[in-house]
Amino acid sequence: MNENSTDSDPVHDVVIVGTGVAGLSAAVYAARADLEPLVLEGPEPGGQLTLTTDVENYLGFPEGIGGMELIQNGKEQATRFGAEFTHGTVERALLAERPYELELSTGDTLRTRALIVASGASARWVGAENETELMGYGLSTCATCDGAFHRGDDVLVVGGGDSAMEEALFLAKFADSVTVVHRREELRASEIMADRARDHDAIEFRWNTELEALYGSRDEGITGATLVSHSDGHPTAKAESGVEVERKTVDVGGVFYAIGHTPNTEFLAGTDVERDEAGYLVTRSDGVGRVTTATTVAGVFAAGDVADPHYQQAITAAGTGSMAALDADAHLETLERAAEPTEVSP
Ligand code: NAP
Repeated sequence: MNENSTDSDPVHDVVIVGTGVAGLSAAVYAARADLEPLVLEGPEPGGQLTLTTDVENYLGFPEGIGGMELIQNGKEQATRFGAEFTHGTVERALLAERPYELELSTGDTLRTRALIVASGASARWVGAENETELMGYGLSTCATCDGAFHRGDDVLVVGGGDSAMEEALFLAKFADSVTVVHRREELRASEIMADRARDHDAIEFRWNTELEALYGSRDEGITGATLVSHSDGHPTAKAESGVEVERKTVDVGGVFYAIGHTPNTEFLAGTDVERDEAGYLVTRSDGVGRVTTATTVAGVFAAGDVADPHYQQAITAAGTGSMAALDADAHLETLERAAEPTEVSP
Protein backbone atom coordinates (compact mmCIF):
# COMPACT_ATOMS: atom_id res chain seq x y z
CA MET A 1 0.00 0.00 0.00
CA ASN A 2 1.13 3.51 -0.87
CA GLU A 3 2.20 5.67 2.10
CA ASN A 4 -0.55 8.24 1.35
CA SER A 5 -3.38 5.71 1.44
CA THR A 6 -4.93 3.89 4.34
CA ASP A 7 -7.30 0.98 4.74
CA SER A 8 -10.04 3.45 5.63
CA ASP A 9 -9.83 5.22 2.23
CA PRO A 10 -12.84 4.35 0.07
CA VAL A 11 -12.39 1.68 -2.57
CA HIS A 12 -14.17 2.64 -5.78
CA ASP A 13 -15.72 0.06 -8.05
CA VAL A 14 -14.28 1.76 -11.08
CA VAL A 15 -12.06 4.74 -11.76
CA ILE A 16 -12.02 6.11 -15.30
CA VAL A 17 -8.91 8.00 -16.35
CA GLY A 18 -9.77 10.60 -18.97
CA THR A 19 -12.67 12.85 -19.90
CA GLY A 20 -12.48 12.65 -23.67
CA VAL A 21 -15.28 11.01 -25.55
CA ALA A 22 -14.05 7.49 -24.57
CA GLY A 23 -13.90 8.28 -20.85
CA LEU A 24 -17.29 10.00 -20.89
CA SER A 25 -18.94 7.18 -22.78
CA ALA A 26 -17.46 4.71 -20.27
CA ALA A 27 -18.75 6.96 -17.46
CA VAL A 28 -22.31 6.95 -18.82
CA TYR A 29 -22.35 3.16 -19.11
CA ALA A 30 -20.63 2.55 -15.77
CA ALA A 31 -22.92 5.00 -13.97
CA ARG A 32 -26.02 3.40 -15.48
CA ALA A 33 -24.71 0.04 -14.24
CA ASP A 34 -24.64 1.51 -10.69
CA LEU A 35 -20.86 1.34 -10.48
CA GLU A 36 -20.66 4.97 -9.28
CA PRO A 37 -17.60 5.70 -11.42
CA LEU A 38 -15.07 8.31 -10.41
CA VAL A 39 -13.81 10.07 -13.54
CA LEU A 40 -10.41 11.72 -13.49
CA GLU A 41 -10.04 14.91 -15.48
CA GLY A 42 -6.41 15.38 -16.48
CA PRO A 43 -4.37 18.12 -18.14
CA GLU A 44 -6.41 18.14 -21.39
CA PRO A 45 -10.01 18.05 -20.11
CA GLY A 46 -12.36 16.83 -22.81
CA GLY A 47 -9.54 15.44 -24.92
CA GLN A 48 -8.83 16.14 -28.56
CA LEU A 49 -12.40 17.03 -29.50
CA THR A 50 -12.04 20.25 -27.59
CA LEU A 51 -9.33 21.24 -30.09
CA THR A 52 -11.70 21.13 -33.00
CA THR A 53 -14.58 23.40 -33.93
CA ASP A 54 -17.54 21.56 -35.47
CA VAL A 55 -17.84 17.78 -35.47
CA GLU A 56 -19.80 16.81 -38.55
CA ASN A 57 -19.27 13.05 -38.67
CA TYR A 58 -20.58 12.02 -35.24
CA LEU A 59 -23.76 10.06 -35.76
CA GLY A 60 -26.96 11.75 -34.68
CA PHE A 61 -26.09 15.40 -35.34
CA PRO A 62 -27.14 16.11 -38.94
CA GLU A 63 -26.11 19.77 -38.62
CA GLY A 64 -22.88 18.89 -36.80
CA ILE A 65 -22.05 19.79 -33.22
CA GLY A 66 -19.24 21.77 -31.63
CA GLY A 67 -16.49 19.57 -30.21
CA MET A 68 -16.67 21.35 -26.87
CA GLU A 69 -20.47 21.11 -26.81
CA LEU A 70 -20.35 17.37 -27.49
CA ILE A 71 -17.98 16.92 -24.57
CA GLN A 72 -20.03 19.12 -22.25
CA ASN A 73 -23.18 17.19 -23.16
CA GLY A 74 -21.38 13.92 -22.44
CA LYS A 75 -20.24 15.18 -19.06
CA GLU A 76 -23.77 16.30 -18.17
CA GLN A 77 -25.14 12.95 -19.29
CA ALA A 78 -22.64 11.00 -17.16
CA THR A 79 -23.26 13.27 -14.16
CA ARG A 80 -27.02 12.78 -14.51
CA PHE A 81 -26.54 9.05 -13.98
CA GLY A 82 -24.28 9.54 -10.96
CA ALA A 83 -20.71 9.70 -12.30
CA GLU A 84 -18.42 11.88 -10.21
CA PHE A 85 -15.60 13.97 -11.61
CA THR A 86 -12.38 15.05 -9.99
CA HIS A 87 -9.20 16.74 -11.22
CA GLY A 88 -5.81 15.10 -11.20
CA THR A 89 -3.26 13.36 -13.36
CA VAL A 90 -2.22 9.83 -12.53
CA GLU A 91 1.50 9.87 -11.91
CA ARG A 92 1.87 6.22 -10.98
CA ALA A 93 -0.36 3.17 -10.99
CA LEU A 94 0.16 0.36 -8.49
CA LEU A 95 -1.48 -2.69 -10.02
CA ALA A 96 0.36 -5.58 -8.40
CA GLU A 97 -2.39 -6.18 -5.85
CA ARG A 98 -6.02 -5.24 -5.27
CA PRO A 99 -7.43 -2.79 -4.67
CA TYR A 100 -5.43 -1.01 -7.33
CA GLU A 101 -3.95 2.33 -6.35
CA LEU A 102 -3.47 5.46 -8.40
CA GLU A 103 -1.12 8.15 -7.17
CA LEU A 104 -2.28 11.53 -8.39
CA SER A 105 -0.48 14.77 -9.14
CA THR A 106 -2.57 16.33 -6.36
CA GLY A 107 -0.86 14.10 -3.79
CA ASP A 108 -4.02 12.02 -3.30
CA THR A 109 -4.20 8.29 -3.85
CA LEU A 110 -7.27 6.58 -5.25
CA ARG A 111 -8.14 2.95 -4.57
CA THR A 112 -10.23 1.00 -7.05
CA ARG A 113 -11.32 -2.52 -7.96
CA ALA A 114 -11.36 -1.81 -11.70
CA LEU A 115 -9.69 0.77 -13.88
CA ILE A 116 -10.65 2.10 -17.29
CA VAL A 117 -7.78 3.85 -19.03
CA ALA A 118 -9.14 6.40 -21.48
CA SER A 119 -6.29 8.87 -21.24
CA GLY A 120 -6.12 9.35 -25.01
CA ALA A 121 -3.29 10.22 -27.30
CA SER A 122 -2.06 13.70 -27.82
CA ALA A 123 -1.29 14.88 -31.34
CA ARG A 124 2.25 16.09 -31.54
CA TRP A 125 2.70 19.77 -32.27
CA VAL A 126 5.48 21.19 -34.40
CA GLY A 127 6.43 24.10 -32.13
CA ALA A 128 5.89 26.80 -34.78
CA GLU A 129 5.43 30.40 -33.73
CA ASN A 130 1.75 31.29 -32.97
CA GLU A 131 0.53 27.68 -33.04
CA THR A 132 -1.08 27.81 -29.58
CA GLU A 133 -3.05 30.91 -30.55
CA LEU A 134 -4.23 29.46 -33.87
CA MET A 135 -4.95 25.83 -32.93
CA GLY A 136 -8.63 25.31 -33.80
CA TYR A 137 -8.67 28.51 -35.88
CA GLY A 138 -7.28 27.28 -39.19
CA LEU A 139 -4.62 25.11 -37.56
CA SER A 140 -5.77 21.57 -36.91
CA THR A 141 -4.49 18.10 -36.11
CA CYS A 142 -7.47 16.36 -37.74
CA ALA A 143 -8.36 16.68 -41.43
CA THR A 144 -11.39 14.41 -41.04
CA CYS A 145 -12.75 16.83 -38.44
CA ASP A 146 -11.87 20.16 -40.02
CA GLY A 147 -11.07 19.52 -43.70
CA ALA A 148 -14.50 20.52 -44.98
CA PHE A 149 -13.97 24.06 -43.67
CA HIS A 150 -11.21 24.55 -46.22
CA ARG A 151 -13.12 24.43 -49.50
CA GLY A 152 -11.16 26.44 -52.06
CA ASP A 153 -8.23 27.12 -49.70
CA ASP A 154 -4.54 26.44 -50.20
CA VAL A 155 -3.52 24.28 -47.25
CA LEU A 156 -0.35 22.79 -45.81
CA VAL A 157 0.02 19.35 -44.25
CA VAL A 158 3.10 18.89 -42.07
CA GLY A 159 4.52 15.35 -41.86
CA GLY A 160 5.73 12.52 -44.04
CA GLY A 161 4.03 9.43 -42.62
CA ASP A 162 0.82 7.60 -43.49
CA SER A 163 -1.23 10.09 -41.47
CA ALA A 164 0.13 12.98 -43.50
CA MET A 165 -0.69 11.17 -46.76
CA GLU A 166 -4.15 10.32 -45.51
CA GLU A 167 -4.76 13.89 -44.36
CA ALA A 168 -3.49 15.28 -47.67
CA LEU A 169 -5.72 12.94 -49.72
CA PHE A 170 -8.73 13.81 -47.59
CA LEU A 171 -8.04 17.54 -47.81
CA ALA A 172 -7.60 17.35 -51.59
CA LYS A 173 -11.37 16.76 -51.81
CA PHE A 174 -12.00 20.29 -50.55
CA ALA A 175 -8.90 22.43 -50.87
CA ASP A 176 -7.66 24.05 -54.08
CA SER A 177 -4.14 22.89 -53.35
CA VAL A 178 -2.51 20.76 -50.67
CA THR A 179 1.20 21.06 -50.01
CA VAL A 180 2.84 18.37 -47.92
CA VAL A 181 5.73 19.84 -45.98
CA HIS A 182 8.25 17.19 -44.97
CA ARG A 183 11.54 17.66 -43.16
CA ARG A 184 13.45 15.14 -45.30
CA GLU A 185 13.20 14.16 -48.97
CA GLU A 186 12.08 10.61 -48.31
CA LEU A 187 8.64 9.79 -47.02
CA ARG A 188 8.08 7.55 -44.03
CA ALA A 189 4.65 6.62 -45.40
CA SER A 190 3.93 3.21 -46.93
CA GLU A 191 4.48 3.02 -50.71
CA ILE A 192 0.81 2.65 -51.46
CA MET A 193 -0.19 5.75 -49.50
CA ALA A 194 2.78 7.73 -50.80
CA ASP A 195 1.94 6.79 -54.40
CA ARG A 196 -1.67 7.83 -53.99
CA ALA A 197 -0.61 11.23 -52.70
CA ARG A 198 2.13 11.67 -55.32
CA ASP A 199 -0.32 10.77 -58.12
CA HIS A 200 -2.93 13.28 -57.00
CA ASP A 201 -3.05 16.44 -59.13
CA ALA A 202 -3.95 18.74 -56.22
CA ILE A 203 -1.14 17.51 -53.93
CA GLU A 204 2.42 18.72 -54.12
CA PHE A 205 5.43 18.20 -51.87
CA ARG A 206 7.90 20.57 -50.37
CA TRP A 207 10.92 18.49 -49.37
CA ASN A 208 13.55 19.22 -46.74
CA THR A 209 11.24 21.84 -45.34
CA GLU A 210 9.72 22.64 -41.96
CA LEU A 211 7.14 25.06 -40.65
CA GLU A 212 8.60 27.89 -38.64
CA ALA A 213 5.77 30.38 -38.05
CA LEU A 214 2.05 30.86 -38.63
CA TYR A 215 0.19 34.12 -39.27
CA GLY A 216 -3.44 35.11 -38.84
CA SER A 217 -5.84 35.59 -35.96
CA ARG A 218 -8.71 33.84 -34.28
CA ASP A 219 -11.11 36.06 -36.25
CA GLU A 220 -9.71 35.61 -39.73
CA GLY A 221 -8.07 32.20 -39.30
CA ILE A 222 -4.70 31.35 -40.80
CA THR A 223 -3.45 33.63 -43.54
CA GLY A 224 0.17 32.61 -44.01
CA ALA A 225 3.13 30.56 -42.90
CA THR A 226 6.90 30.79 -42.96
CA LEU A 227 8.70 27.68 -44.19
CA VAL A 228 12.38 26.95 -43.74
CA SER A 229 14.32 24.69 -46.09
CA HIS A 230 17.78 23.21 -46.35
CA SER A 231 18.93 20.85 -49.09
CA ASP A 232 20.15 18.27 -46.52
CA GLY A 233 16.87 18.23 -44.56
CA HIS A 234 16.00 19.00 -40.91
CA PRO A 235 16.27 22.76 -41.57
CA THR A 236 15.08 23.92 -38.12
CA ALA A 237 17.88 22.08 -36.36
CA LYS A 238 20.33 23.43 -38.93
CA ALA A 239 19.10 27.01 -38.43
CA GLU A 240 19.42 26.57 -34.65
CA SER A 241 23.03 25.52 -35.05
CA GLY A 242 23.79 28.57 -37.18
CA VAL A 243 23.67 26.98 -40.64
CA GLU A 244 22.13 29.21 -43.29
CA VAL A 245 18.66 28.11 -44.38
CA GLU A 246 16.19 29.36 -46.96
CA ARG A 247 13.02 31.05 -45.62
CA LYS A 248 9.85 31.57 -47.57
CA THR A 249 6.52 33.01 -46.46
CA VAL A 250 3.48 31.62 -48.27
CA ASP A 251 -0.24 32.50 -48.27
CA VAL A 252 -2.31 29.63 -46.88
CA GLY A 253 -5.83 29.25 -45.49
CA GLY A 254 -5.21 26.17 -43.34
CA VAL A 255 -2.44 24.09 -41.79
CA PHE A 256 -2.73 20.50 -40.62
CA TYR A 257 -0.25 18.79 -38.33
CA ALA A 258 0.24 15.08 -38.99
CA ILE A 259 3.49 14.32 -37.23
CA GLY A 260 2.14 11.49 -35.09
CA HIS A 261 0.41 11.04 -31.75
CA THR A 262 1.78 10.12 -28.38
CA PRO A 263 -0.50 7.91 -26.26
CA ASN A 264 -0.78 9.08 -22.69
CA THR A 265 0.30 5.85 -21.03
CA GLU A 266 3.52 6.82 -19.30
CA PHE A 267 1.90 6.35 -15.87
CA LEU A 268 1.56 2.62 -16.64
CA ALA A 269 5.30 2.14 -17.11
CA GLY A 270 6.51 -0.33 -14.53
CA THR A 271 3.19 -2.18 -14.40
CA ASP A 272 2.26 -5.40 -16.20
CA VAL A 273 -0.05 -3.56 -18.59
CA GLU A 274 1.42 -4.29 -21.99
CA ARG A 275 2.14 -1.37 -24.30
CA ASP A 276 3.35 -1.57 -27.90
CA GLU A 277 6.53 0.08 -29.13
CA ALA A 278 4.78 3.41 -29.58
CA GLY A 279 3.23 3.23 -26.10
CA TYR A 280 -0.33 2.27 -27.14
CA LEU A 281 -2.08 -0.18 -24.81
CA VAL A 282 -2.45 -3.70 -26.13
CA THR A 283 -5.91 -5.20 -25.66
CA ARG A 284 -6.71 -8.91 -25.57
CA SER A 285 -9.35 -10.92 -27.36
CA ASP A 286 -11.58 -13.27 -25.39
CA GLY A 287 -11.31 -17.05 -25.42
CA VAL A 288 -12.90 -17.35 -28.87
CA GLY A 289 -11.08 -14.49 -30.54
CA ARG A 290 -13.63 -11.69 -30.11
CA VAL A 291 -12.45 -8.15 -29.45
CA THR A 292 -12.50 -6.91 -25.83
CA THR A 293 -11.09 -3.90 -24.02
CA ALA A 294 -9.19 -6.02 -21.47
CA THR A 295 -5.50 -5.25 -21.07
CA THR A 296 -2.89 -7.70 -19.82
CA VAL A 297 -3.79 -6.88 -16.20
CA ALA A 298 -7.12 -8.28 -15.00
CA GLY A 299 -9.55 -5.50 -14.13
CA VAL A 300 -7.73 -2.88 -16.21
CA PHE A 301 -9.49 -1.89 -19.43
CA ALA A 302 -8.55 0.42 -22.29
CA ALA A 303 -10.85 2.71 -24.27
CA GLY A 304 -10.38 5.18 -27.08
CA ASP A 305 -7.21 6.45 -28.70
CA VAL A 306 -4.99 5.17 -25.89
CA ALA A 307 -5.32 1.72 -27.48
CA ASP A 308 -6.00 2.80 -31.06
CA PRO A 309 -3.19 3.95 -33.30
CA HIS A 310 -5.36 3.40 -36.37
CA TYR A 311 -8.99 4.68 -36.39
CA GLN A 312 -8.76 7.50 -33.85
CA GLN A 313 -12.31 8.76 -34.40
CA ALA A 314 -14.69 10.21 -31.82
CA ILE A 315 -17.33 7.63 -32.68
CA THR A 316 -14.95 4.68 -32.29
CA ALA A 317 -13.68 6.10 -29.00
CA ALA A 318 -17.26 6.37 -27.73
CA GLY A 319 -17.85 2.77 -28.82
CA THR A 320 -14.83 1.37 -27.01
CA GLY A 321 -15.70 3.50 -23.96
CA SER A 322 -19.05 1.74 -23.68
CA MET A 323 -17.34 -1.63 -24.23
CA ALA A 324 -14.82 -0.94 -21.45
CA ALA A 325 -17.61 -0.14 -18.98
CA LEU A 326 -19.48 -3.32 -19.90
CA ASP A 327 -16.26 -5.34 -19.59
CA ALA A 328 -15.50 -3.74 -16.21
CA ASP A 329 -19.01 -4.48 -14.96
CA ALA A 330 -18.73 -8.13 -16.00
CA HIS A 331 -15.31 -8.36 -14.36
CA LEU A 332 -16.59 -6.94 -11.05
CA GLU A 333 -19.47 -9.42 -11.07
CA THR A 334 -17.00 -12.25 -11.54
CA LEU A 335 -14.95 -10.96 -8.58
CA GLU A 336 -18.10 -10.76 -6.43
CA ARG A 337 -19.17 -14.27 -7.36
CA ALA A 338 -15.69 -15.56 -6.54
CA ALA A 339 -15.86 -13.88 -3.10
CA GLU A 340 -19.24 -15.43 -2.21
CA PRO A 341 -19.00 -18.30 0.27
CA THR A 342 -19.36 -21.64 -1.42
CA GLU A 343 -22.53 -23.48 -0.34
CA VAL A 344 -21.78 -26.69 1.51
CA SER A 345 -24.33 -29.48 1.11
CA PRO A 346 -25.79 -30.74 4.37
P1 NAP B 1 4.63 8.43 -38.16
O1 NAP B 1 4.61 7.25 -39.04
O2 NAP B 1 5.43 8.41 -36.93
O3 NAP B 1 5.10 9.66 -39.06
C1 NAP B 1 5.29 10.93 -38.52
C2 NAP B 1 5.86 11.83 -39.58
O4 NAP B 1 6.00 13.14 -39.04
C3 NAP B 1 7.26 11.38 -40.05
O5 NAP B 1 7.38 11.58 -41.44
C4 NAP B 1 8.19 12.34 -39.29
O6 NAP B 1 9.35 12.69 -40.03
C5 NAP B 1 7.34 13.57 -39.16
N1 NAP B 1 7.69 14.32 -37.95
C6 NAP B 1 7.76 13.84 -36.68
N2 NAP B 1 8.08 14.84 -35.84
C7 NAP B 1 8.21 15.95 -36.60
C8 NAP B 1 8.51 17.31 -36.32
N3 NAP B 1 8.75 17.74 -35.08
N4 NAP B 1 8.54 18.20 -37.35
C9 NAP B 1 8.31 17.80 -38.61
N5 NAP B 1 8.01 16.53 -38.95
C10 NAP B 1 7.96 15.62 -37.94
O7 NAP B 1 3.15 8.86 -37.68
P2 NAP B 1 1.76 8.69 -38.45
O8 NAP B 1 1.88 9.11 -39.85
O9 NAP B 1 0.76 9.38 -37.56
O10 NAP B 1 1.48 7.12 -38.39
C11 NAP B 1 1.43 6.45 -37.15
C12 NAP B 1 1.11 4.95 -37.40
O11 NAP B 1 -0.23 4.84 -37.87
C13 NAP B 1 2.02 4.36 -38.47
O12 NAP B 1 2.28 3.04 -38.11
C14 NAP B 1 1.16 4.40 -39.71
O13 NAP B 1 1.50 3.41 -40.66
C15 NAP B 1 -0.23 4.18 -39.13
N6 NAP B 1 -1.24 4.79 -40.00
C16 NAP B 1 -1.75 4.03 -40.99
C17 NAP B 1 -2.67 4.56 -41.87
C18 NAP B 1 -3.23 3.74 -42.96
O14 NAP B 1 -2.72 2.67 -43.20
N7 NAP B 1 -4.25 4.16 -43.65
C19 NAP B 1 -3.08 5.89 -41.72
C20 NAP B 1 -2.53 6.65 -40.69
C21 NAP B 1 -1.59 6.09 -39.85
P3 NAP B 1 10.52 11.62 -40.29
O15 NAP B 1 10.00 10.71 -41.35
O16 NAP B 1 11.66 12.46 -40.72
O17 NAP B 1 10.76 10.94 -38.97
